Amino acid sequence: MHATIPFDREYQNATGRPIPHLPNHPITHPPIPPHPRPLAPATLSPMSSITTFSDLPSEQGRHELSIPIGDGRSRPSLPVRFHRGAALHPLLAVTAMVHGDEYEGFGGVLQLWKRIERRRISGSVLMLPVCNSAAARAATRRTPDALDGLDLARVFPGSARGSFTRRLARRIWDLVAPADVLVDLHSGGAGYEYLPMTGFYRARDREIAECFPIRTLWKIPSNPGVLSYELVRRGRRAMGTEFAGEARSDPRGVAACTKGLLRIMHHLKMIAAPPRATAIQRRRLLTKTSYQLTDRSGWFVRSVAPGQRIVRRQPIGEWIDEDLNRSTLTCRDAGTVTAVRTLPRVDAGDYLVVTGR
Ligand SMILES: [Zn+2]
Repeated sequence: MHATIPFDREYQNATGRPIPHLPNHPITHPPIPPHPRPLAPATLSPMSSITTFSDLPSEQGRHELSIPIGDGRSRPSLPVRFHRGAALHPLLAVTAMVHGDEYEGFGGVLQLWKRIERRRISGSVLMLPVCNSAAARAATRRTPDALDGLDLARVFPGSARGSFTRRLARRIWDLVAPADVLVDLHSGGAGYEYLPMTGFYRARDREIAECFPIRTLWKIPSNPGVLSYELVRRGRRAMGTEFAGEARSDPRGVAACTKGLLRIMHHLKMIAAPPRATAIQRRRLLTKTSYQLTDRSGWFVRSVAPGQRIVRRQPIGEWIDEDLNRSTLTCRDAGTVTAVRTLPRVDAGDYLVVTGR
């Protein structure tokens, strides 16, 4: 059983007062000039002995590691980028490609690594740009069936023993657990197009979600096994994002990831100057999420798009069953479309449309 966090009450309490706007946050420390060259040469150490955060290099500087998962000899591995400042904290952890067909976060993390290489930072950044490299190499959401076919985003905190994905989850968990803030970057993957959203679970984490230059704020539904949710359940600070999807790497999504992460670093007083970002005049807050699932297999040709407002019984697309009979599917829950299935082939249990209110 999972403990229930009283998000709704907390959210109600929070919405009664203004949320601090980030650009007005005072900078209480003197600006730190950019460094003329990297602080320390990046090191590449294939260290199979790394199992927890405390095993990471303790020297200040940039560290590129690759942690084998499994028998210690063969791929797949877990690539780690660790930029350690003079002080370990604040520690920002960033995860991408928990699903192997989601590319904006991956691009954003690599950009961030490049952007901070010449800067001296307060605190440290731990980046996992490819959390599930087995899925990433196959360009699939889940771990390939040959390993165990599991969805990494449903098995956190994982286990030291068990099949590949569970052990991978435990390795990631042990690395990111000491973080002061975790940002988990997702996209629609190959099958869906998502409305760009920046999400939080608890009201106190709304301000870190607002660091992303994305109009739609999303109260993420409780979802056991998701990394960010499991950390929040244990009292940690965590947030998540969604970008377009369809297995593309939308440059606007990549840029939004990089800017959002830099603005969180500024918010945590890790860097002096935040990146310039277009001010978002009016945020749209979605607090209730509804998934419209199919209980049949067939083909769904959507007629709605992310961001569109739809009413109950409005057509959402055409359904073609296995005998090629055609019919019109309608919407069960009114709201703003936050995601829609764009890959027509679906199996029973897949969701077709997600709406938020
Ligand atoms: Zn995902």
